[in-house]
Amino acid sequence: MNKVLIFDTTLRDGEQALKSSLSVREKLVIARALSKMKVDIIEAGFPVSSPGDFQSVSTIAESISDATICGLSRAVDKDIEVCAEAVNKAARPRIHTFIATSEIHASSKLRKSNDEILAMAIHAVKHARNLCGDVEFSCEDAGRTDPDLLCRVVEETIKAGAKTINIPDTVGYTVGYQFGDIIKNIFERVPNVDDAVISVHCHNDLGLGTANSVMAVLNGARQVECTVNGLGERAGNASLEEIVMILRTRKDIFNVETNINTKEISNTSRLVSHICGVPIQPNKAIVGANAFSHSSGIHQDGMLKNQSTYEIMTPESVGLDKNTLNLTSRSGRAVIQHRLANLGYEKDTYDMGKFYANFLALADKKGSVYDDDLEALMEIGSDVDESKYSLEYLNVSSGRGIIATSTVRVSDGDIILQEAATGDGPVDATYEAISRATGMVLEVVDYSLSGVTGGRDALGEVKLIVDYNGKRFHGHGSSTDIIEASAQAYINATNKVERNIKVEEVRKSKNK
Ligand SMILES: [Zn+2]
Repeated sequence: MNKVLIFDTTLRDGEQALKSSLSVREKLVIARALSKMKVDIIEAGFPVSSPGDFQSVSTIAESISDATICGLSRAVDKDIEVCAEAVNKAARPRIHTFIATSEIHASSKLRKSNDEILAMAIHAVKHARNLCGDVEFSCEDAGRTDPDLLCRVVEETIKAGAKTINIPDTVGYTVGYQFGDIIKNIFERVPNVDDAVISVHCHNDLGLGTANSVMAVLNGARQVECTVNGLGERAGNASLEEIVMILRTRKDIFNVETNINTKEISNTSRLVSHICGVPIQPNKAIVGANAFSHSSGIHQDGMLKNQSTYEIMTPESVGLDKNTLNLTSRSGRAVIQHRLANLGYEKDTYDMGKFYANFLALADKKGSVYDDDLEALMEIGSDVDESKYSLEYLNVSSGRGIIATSTVRVSDGDIILQEAATGDGPVDATYEAISRATGMVLEVVDYSLSGVTGGRDALGEVKLIVDYNGKRFHGHGSSTDIIEASAQAYINATNKVERNIKVEEVRKSKNK
């Protein structure tokens, strides 16, 4: 069998690590995205843990038909019964029951002998099988379990009727080859191993969650438990997107496939990050903002000549439009020339030496340089005037039961423009008021607010992408007042649009 089943536990292991739990509706939104991405099994929650969790699992079971819907339960009759009740409306229900098998868990946590634990495991699997045709059994802390005992538990729980046996590295302690050997040992020593799918569930405490999971696949595991963006207890779980893209990109080594529609990876990752309130680090493999962006001048030059020089997988394969060549002071001339050609400026129409010097000056000042900056640089030279409008005054009233109202005063040179507006929240009201003052309505395509510093007096930074007549512009603003930061970002974007209008005029007059 060369199919690896993807078991997603974002809603169980991932959710239990969040600072606040997700609502039923939020979990359903994530479950739908997982189903669209074609994960094979969705672990929707731990039904006995709370009424909310029970309701989430049963709602997902009723609503999602493309994936197996699984609930977690301890090896306790009551847990298993509640779990069965939560998943039973699913088209394909599964009960996932577990008990710790390592010496340290058995003696300190459970205070049971090995024989007692084995008896409990067998009983739990049989009980679950009476309530559900598809039962998965996990040996918690398998990574630190005595190999003889582990083989015995695996053999007996398969006999008891478990169709999937999960071998978790619960504490993220094992190292690649060692975890691979644990799986290999099970295949060599458990006589009925072929009657079940061997699964793995690796944690990332030493940063090895993904590495250990793929070593297990190399040694025969055919189900991997993972989470979107690697969310999960402590340092998290093996990350779904990494597992899937490793198996796909290195098919030469693994020779296995998954059912995942990889083009849904980026969207799902963003959605999970947004709903869970956990940002993705920019350098995160596969889904980080920089995962496909090439900064070094040498790399950018290579990419333009042949994408494969620095690209092992395409951004399109994970659902991104195209990779981004991040234009900074490290970008070389060839890249700038390429970008300018895309904007319609052929290389014999300008002086590259002069342009490049201006570009570097701007890049040093701004960090990143976008298309509209390049155009402005091309048309109006190095002295880029970005600040037609500036915010002079802002007064916002908002709160529960109050219609958000914003009054702004914006200066345009010596002219003072003042307007007030209501809106759906203080930011919306402020944007409406600024639009009225400047007469320029921008469609906000993307809005993000992040704390630049920690603590309650944190400096908030707002980044915007706006659309004006089909063209996109960036805006940013920062302040200890987040509404003011939002207003500054909008005005910054408005100034860029104004500048672009000026650029267009200059270009037209040159063409005459
Ligand atoms: Zn876990």
